[in-house]
Amino acid sequence: MEQNKENMAAKQETVVSNTSGKPPASKDFVINLDVGDPTMYESFWKGMGDQGAITIPSSQTISYFSDVTNFCWFLEPEFAREIRRLHKLVGNAVTEDRHLIVGTGSSQLLQAAVYALSPSDTTDQMNVVSVVPYYSSYAPLMDYLRSGLFRWAGDACTFKGDAYIELVCSPSNPDGFLRQAFLKSEGGKTIHDLAYYWPQYTPITSPADHDISIFTISKSIGHAGSRLGWALVKDAAVARKMTKFIELSTIGVSKVSQIRATKILKVVSDSYEHPIPGNPDKLFDFGRRLLVDRWKKLREAVKASGIFSLPEFPSETCKFTGEKAETLPAFAWLKCEKEGIEDCASFLRTHKILTRGGSYFGASPNYTRVSMIDRDETFDLFTERLSSLH
Ligand code: PMP
Repeated sequence: MEQNKENMAAKQETVVSNTSGKPPASKDFVINLDVGDPTMYESFWKGMGDQGAITIPSSQTISYFSDVTNFCWFLEPEFAREIRRLHKLVGNAVTEDRHLIVGTGSSQLLQAAVYALSPSDTTDQMNVVSVVPYYSSYAPLMDYLRSGLFRWAGDACTFKGDAYIELVCSPSNPDGFLRQAFLKSEGGKTIHDLAYYWPQYTPITSPADHDISIFTISKSIGHAGSRLGWALVKDAAVARKMTKFIELSTIGVSKVSQIRATKILKVVSDSYEHPIPGNPDKLFDFGRRLLVDRWKKLREAVKASGIFSLPEFPSETCKFTGEKAETLPAFAWLKCEKEGIEDCASFLRTHKILTRGGSYFGASPNYTRVSMIDRDETFDLFTERLSSLH
């Protein structure tokens, strides 16, 4: 079992194929939609030209420290300002009286949060749970160092006990639905992973106001390669412990990344707050337009094939746009309905389509997760090939 989990974690990290990191060059190429690599945003940023460009003199960013007056001393003040500004603009999170912590991707912050919420004065490990289907990295992230403080305990729905940390991913990776904490015990803790709570993916219905909310640059504006995430934390002691974790693991977070992201975030917010006439596009509008088109194409391909099904989502008024908006997840949770095919990912693999099978998410292998945020060429090739499978 342990070995199996390790193999799964290793495989997740190493899947590469003809379309990994680059567009497909021919029609029969292996299509890799296993990883949620947000390359669909590349064309948006190309269209922005030099607007997001920066020059950093070699004398800058030498010190470890960004702001010694802040408990999170490696947080660039300008980056913090732009993060708060973006949340205010979008209305997807309360930032007043919240401690802001930057991390090397939200992956590091998830670990920092679990570390901070696990008591160190007991030999019992804290149980970390999440509702099935849960984000496939949660289990390996919790167990790969075999911590004495916490351990992965699987599906929140079948968990019995009071000592737990529930990871709530909303909208959910992989299935796209909005989620709330499932467990309600007094002693339990929750961490909200809000990587996809942005208006291109889901209507923004209210500002998130949780004990710990974690966001990432990777899925909000597409710059996964900058490796930046941030957490909004209510409790000062928890925020300090999370900061300590980051200090111990990486002695802070890249300043260069923060300075670059600051500029890019400013371009996004400026485009809404101070639009320049004739300016090409706005990021969330771009993302939504692309996803509307892709979900339409995917539903058509599923219909033409006749052997798959997809979840149906409600529409709600988005407080950011003021318009009724559909949920358009960053992943498609595809189910194979054909009799005799129990493993959807393996079936697709035989047709040179790489996806992430349901068992990585604690779910049935009838399901598989498909990235909807890759490049146009890859996505179009995928829907074309999918529609021909009967
Ligand atoms: N949480 C969720 C739900 C995700 O989908 C991802 C990226 N796939 C992450 C966290 C980690 O993102 P990153 O480390 O790139 O910020």
